[in-house]
Amino acid sequence: MLQINSFVFNPFGENTYVIYDENKECVIIDPGCSAASEENALFGFIDSHQLKPLMVINTHGHVDHIMGNEAVKSHYGIKVAAHPEAKNDFIRSKQQAMMFGLPMTVECNLPEMELNDGELVQVGDSTLEVVFTPGHARGSISLYAPVEGWVFTGDALFCRSIGRTDLPGGNFDELRESIRSRLFTLPDDTEVYCGHGESTTIGEEKDFNPYVAV
Ligand SMILES: [Zn+2]
Ligand SMILES: [Zn+2]
Repeated sequence: MLQINSFVFNPFGENTYVIYDENKECVIIDPGCSAASEENALFGFIDSHQLKPLMVINTHGHVDHIMGNEAVKSHYGIKVAAHPEAKNDFIRSKQQAMMFGLPMTVECNLPEMELNDGELVQVGDSTLEVVFTPGHARGSISLYAPVEGWVFTGDALFCRSIGRTDLPGGNFDELRESIRSRLFTLPDDTEVYCGHGESTTIGEEKDFNPYVAV
């Protein structure tokens, strides 16, 4: 069984997740650390639990989700994985950081590994499945842990809200379709861990999300 630890990082209040299983392997989803204190909090957790990081996974290429990539990569010597269509957002990330006035001093390199729809990521004896959920950004993915009943949705689905669709690559109809066909088809009691804000469940969002309720 996987376990989870979450952090809220950077001026956007972005959720960074460390997912690990009993044999100590872990992945870091969307490291958004923007300051040494945030890096220390993330590294301190990983090191004090003696976890072995396998890779960084980015749900999409927006700067608030990737700005800690280079720090994590150089600290642990691991690679970054993302959907191939997220590439353009990585290329734009430095510019996006400046636009939002974020303290991003390091260039964010392109991911070294691709994750496509349906691919499985092995974390110890546990599994995360890649679910393609575009609409908020090009190449957005969610990560589904079927045994634990969790899904990490990045900025696709939030508690009672959805991701903005006015940034480059955003498309409201596509996002709604992703949520309805790929996320709302998961079991109702699936816990939804979002890129910002509190967690929710698929069943609650089907009933109460004003943007996509069915
Ligand atoms: Zn985003
Ligand atoms: Zn975000």
